[in-house]
Amino acid sequence: MTKFIFVTGGVSSSLGKGLTASSLGRLLKCRGLRVTMCKLDPYINVDPGTLNPFEHGEVFVTDDGGETDLDLGHYERFIDENLRRSSNATTGSIYSAVISKERRGDYLGRTVQVIPHVTDEIKERVHQLASDGIDVVITEVGGTVGDIEIVPFLEAIRQFRRDVGRENVCYVHLTLVPYLAPSGEQKTKPTQHSVTELRSRGIQPDVIVCRSDQAISPALKRKISLLCDVPIEAVVSAVDAHSIYEIPLVLHGEGLDDYICKILQFDPTEHVADLGGWRDLLHRVGATETEGAPRVRIGVIGKYVNLPDAYLSVVEALRHAGFYHGAGVEIVWVQAEDVSEMLVAGDVLDPNELHGLRDLDGIVIPGGFGERGVEGKIAAARFARENGVPCLGLCLGLQVMVIEFARHVAGMDGAHTTELDPCTAYPVIDLMGDQVDVVNKGGTMRLGSYVAHLKPGSRVASAYGQEVVSERHRHRYEVQPRFHSKLSEAGIVWSGMSPDGRLVEMVELDDHPFWVGTQAHPEFKSRPDSPHPLFREFLAAALVRAEGRAPRILDPREFD
Ligand code: GLN
Repeated sequence: MTKFIFVTGGVSSSLGKGLTASSLGRLLKCRGLRVTMCKLDPYINVDPGTLNPFEHGEVFVTDDGGETDLDLGHYERFIDENLRRSSNATTGSIYSAVISKERRGDYLGRTVQVIPHVTDEIKERVHQLASDGIDVVITEVGGTVGDIEIVPFLEAIRQFRRDVGRENVCYVHLTLVPYLAPSGEQKTKPTQHSVTELRSRGIQPDVIVCRSDQAISPALKRKISLLCDVPIEAVVSAVDAHSIYEIPLVLHGEGLDDYICKILQFDPTEHVADLGGWRDLLHRVGATETEGAPRVRIGVIGKYVNLPDAYLSVVEALRHAGFYHGAGVEIVWVQAEDVSEMLVAGDVLDPNELHGLRDLDGIVIPGGFGERGVEGKIAAARFARENGVPCLGLCLGLQVMVIEFARHVAGMDGAHTTELDPCTAYPVIDLMGDQVDVVNKGGTMRLGSYVAHLKPGSRVASAYGQEVVSERHRHRYEVQPRFHSKLSEAGIVWSGMSPDGRLVEMVELDDHPFWVGTQAHPEFKSRPDSPHPLFREFLAAALVRAEGRAPRILDPREFD
């Protein structure tokens, strides 16, 4: 029988509910339990695919092409399982399913209501994830108790316990215990209010996880236990961790997984926690922060650099590669439009501005859509190519590398992507003929896992250690086949192709330390204890550059 854990949050958003749920998933996995995870999002978009990354952070893509909430990325990285599109449901997708059923006549003429039709649909989404091969489904309910949109979700999870039996459900509630400097005290009142709100929806939490910047004292735990009516061992202090990968150990130290196993009646002798592997990982994380550890400065040339969550998986993948090499990775956010401004007289980089790029040990050009800053990304790709700076292009990153190469090496002046310049003389990046659908843009995306055949002996083949690989995609435009031969004659290597040889999946250059682009998003498959091969090799090349890097000569303007 599959058991169910529901994680809700109170007091404030951004408390790290996703990380708490993921960490709990990891702890249960370390006890030999088979875990899967799910996110219920109260917003009305049918999926996060159309959400602005400025507002909501990155869109995470699953193998089966689901465009999902970024928390699914945390889940995959922590529990080390590939999830599916069905692991994320939004209010929009729930209502859309209910309305389709109503149109089909499935409700036999009954009045369709939030209770039971919407709540049944929500419960069905969670039930779908349970199977013989799964011991625990952990479901995170997005939003905060007290939000208007969350009410049907709370009602559904309340009913869940009655449906499947008390011993099969555990409610975990995450709250904030703020420290108020003037009174020099940590305050439990917001937690009390939040639990009262949850109770008003009929849910008595089994466990209260308290986020705080300092550990919660036993006296305060007693107070929360008394006022919120949970045993003292069910009050967990989740103090700010140095690295997100430390959180499972913090929660384990507080006895969270022990207590939850007790609630869910898992035999403690059969499910002993083996955290050895995770502790090893943390040792590697710690090693990257020691005094003598090598450091690399990686520039991420992006559009959404003020909201790093927009590139969450890219940053994590870089960190994972750092853990592997024992190197600290310093991310330098470079606004793509600023690089465009470094361009003087057409497309020549202003030498006075160059030091910003020259100081980098590696450049990542991440994905993006319809960007004004694309000229800056093209300039960065060129700078990397001409100056031997390791460069990794992801999706749009590959596209700008191909444009850059076409313009400056293959003599195709003005080459571009038709996404940004529909009238370019050299549309090296364009929609494929079978892909043009102006009405339903989402329908034309290449989404999810696609296989690539790698060129024997290429850099990417040696990084992966295999010649057939599969990566997740999320894009519309492709390198146009009619330009393949002219560009490759000029020296670009098509080192990964779709099995039918039509679509370019990876590009590289022979005579460069590392100038590799991929049409996919390998960052989604990187795990803290097994970095993605392309990130691992990119960082290796960046480390070589870092070691040989001449001391930085400061621009006199910087002394001001
Ligand atoms: N905008 C480009 C395309 O649609 C790249 C997308 C991306 O980087 N994910 O093809």
